[in-house]
Amino acid sequence: MPSSNALRAAVNDAHQQFAGLTDGKNADYIPYLATVPSNLFGIAVVTATGDTITAGDVDYAFAIESISKLFTLGLVIDDIGADALRKKIGASPTGMPFNSVQAIELHGGKPLNPFVNAGAIATTSLVPGSSPDAKWANIIGEMSAFAGHELKVNEEVYKSESDTNQHNRGIAWLLQSYGYMYSDPIAATDLYTRQCSVAVSAKDLATMGAVLAAKGVHPVSGKRLLKEANVREMLAEMTLNGMYDASGDWLYQVGLPAKSGVGGGVLAVVPGKMAIAAFSPPLDNYGNSVRAQAAIAHISSQLKLDVFGA
Ligand code: GLU
Repeated sequence: MPSSNALRAAVNDAHQQFAGLTDGKNADYIPYLATVPSNLFGIAVVTATGDTITAGDVDYAFAIESISKLFTLGLVIDDIGADALRKKIGASPTGMPFNSVQAIELHGGKPLNPFVNAGAIATTSLVPGSSPDAKWANIIGEMSAFAGHELKVNEEVYKSESDTNQHNRGIAWLLQSYGYMYSDPIAATDLYTRQCSVAVSAKDLATMGAVLAAKGVHPVSGKRLLKEANVREMLAEMTLNGMYDASGDWLYQVGLPAKSGVGGGVLAVVPGKMAIAAFSPPLDNYGNSVRAQAAIAHISSQLKLDVFGA
């Protein structure tokens, strides 16, 4: 485990070096995301024992988007178990964009993993609860417990996504037709859209990730939030599918399980040690934040955090 001085130096250095990067572009297929200031850039590290190191815009609340898929996965995997999840959703990369309909057609309707939209909506349809409200209470309750305080939906994001989520609704109906949707498809898509609209800061995200780094225990409260046995399955999913179609390149270059979202957040976990979250809205062609990737890659290489490099 690096010293806190070394951690602080690496985080500050990454912020200084990459704040000036101007590559990439905010997501705009969700209109709200195009309006977030592109120069925002924050990095937060939370260790498995609860120490926090930050640089830049770490309190700005942005849309969690796809990173929410990780926490809904945690809820469902703890409820139905890793084997059932693998049967109902899958655990392999699709090799296609995150919202591909073709991928569903090519695999007999099976979504293949919980991080593409199809698999995420199917995962959300498995959230325990007798009504959409009860399911929502579980989803937001789970995310809030990980963050250590109450998280809220950004209603503007939710409206912007709801007005434009016809493609995701289409995916949900398609899954239903193949028997891979486990509740009403429209209700599941709405819950999924809401979970993507939850506002988090880079500091929140690092705290949430630190629960995975600490094998399922919250680093500050000490409460167990995930079954220990399921943490490795979640890290495996992140490793395989967390960075969209760049997951292989990311693993090759950085060697850390991570999950990215089109809101500009990236969350990486160093098992047993820490979580590193970075946020900056401009994305590369794969949908991953340019500055966030550069920052995490830099910190990982400075501190030799690569899980395959030991
Ligand atoms: N709500 C977004 C969508 O469904 C999330 C995408 C993402 O962050 O990958 O398109």
